[in-house]
Amino acid sequence: MMSYQRPKGTNDILPGESEKWQFLEETARLVFRDYQFNEIRTPIFEHFEVIARSVGDTTDIVSKEMYDFHDKGERHITLRPEGTAPIARSYVENKLFGPEYTKPYKVFYMGPMFRYERPQKGRLRQFHQIGVEVFGSANPATDVETMAMAMDFYQQLGLNQLRLVINSLGDKETRQQYRQALIDYLVPHEAELSEDSKRRLHENPLRVLDSKDKRDQRFVADAPSILDYLTPEAKHHFDTVVAMLDALGVAYEIDSTMVRGLDYYTHTIFEIMSDAPKMGAQATICAGGRYNHLVEELGGPETPGFGFALGVERLLLTLEAEEVVIPALNQLDAYVVGLGQETNLAVLKVVQAIRNFGFSADRDFMDRKAKAQFKSADKQGAQLVLTLGETELAQQVINIKSMASRVEKQFPLTALYDHFDEIYDEMTTIMIEQGEDK
Ligand code: ATP
Ligand code: MG
Repeated sequence: MMSYQRPKGTNDILPGESEKWQFLEETARLVFRDYQFNEIRTPIFEHFEVIARSVGDTTDIVSKEMYDFHDKGERHITLRPEGTAPIARSYVENKLFGPEYTKPYKVFYMGPMFRYERPQKGRLRQFHQIGVEVFGSANPATDVETMAMAMDFYQQLGLNQLRLVINSLGDKETRQQYRQALIDYLVPHEAELSEDSKRRLHENPLRVLDSKDKRDQRFVADAPSILDYLTPEAKHHFDTVVAMLDALGVAYEIDSTMVRGLDYYTHTIFEIMSDAPKMGAQATICAGGRYNHLVEELGGPETPGFGFALGVERLLLTLEAEEVVIPALNQLDAYVVGLGQETNLAVLKVVQAIRNFGFSADRDFMDRKAKAQFKSADKQGAQLVLTLGETELAQQVINIKSMASRVEKQFPLTALYDHFDEIYDEMTTIMIEQGEDK
């Protein structure tokens, strides 16, 4: 018999683990709501061109990492490798720039992304991002507020060992001038560069700075600084971002060699790095920046943008590395123990009644002995354990025990059906001391 395995670079997120995901997602929703972001959901696959045009043909993402194919209608399709391009496409297609919409237009998303990469810890082929986009504001306060929101989210989760690293890629003019300076600097070393970077040098020299190859990284430290090539407008934008971060008391570092792996960025770019142990090359847990020409590139009106995406798998690794405890979400309010097959129907009715009052309830289905059922109740962390034997059933009563206080009381079944909510309150607020007195 053949054994089936999930594709390389993918994960099954099982119960036990999925609760952590829900907690992160719920925390993100709460934080983003405070900043008035609304959720957007776009398709998992897009026309290849949407991504190629936005992210850039010469980037690693487009040139090596796309999960693209031709569908049965001969359309060139790709699984989405990131969220910004699809959302910019949606913004243009749905005319979200129209006068009826509040500006800036702020959205968040969460979901799977796909990149054909060499899988390793914190680097998968199907991974998950939580991200945001802001359309329509060129104000540096948008850059600062959005970066602060990302930091806010991590702080809410209890992470402390984080670093915000920023840089500016300036405007088109900055890029043109800097491109030439970088070529002049790198050409004498051309022979020593990696094969990829020899190609990058002429296609898109900024990509050399983003290379993960050691042969290229040697030249990064002494490369000319893009900050020396900012036009007066670009410099003013960056200086204002820096001054605003200072004013808010948000700590940051400037790394003038940081360029990011996507072509659509302009002006401010940033990464959030984890300094927690053992993150290795996967220490960047969030990345983003400004993209002032992307919407136009996709056929929309001139619209400045700013956004970020954070990797959920890397966030979970960081939480583990910083030993953050994630609260349990799925508490069990009541476990109903049924003794004897005759109670099967009555137990079915009791658990349903409890659930109808809005509480969680569980029971045994395997006709197990009392001891095994009590053990399950304990393992599942039940607040109350209700016991129904054949004698109780004959008398139409049920025993209810609070696991915190160990106090046990008998109630008529009719009382449970009428007002289980009151019984629950009564039993769970009985003082522990009272239980000990008994
Ligand atoms: P890297 O330099 O590590 O390859 P990137 O620059 O390609 O990252 P972005 O496209 O900016 O990453 O994506 C934003 C975030 O998404 C990253 O900071 C990371 O947390 C996460 N991420 C990106 N690619 C992967 C992946 N293959 N597996 C898991 N997480 C990823
Ligand atoms: Mg990458």
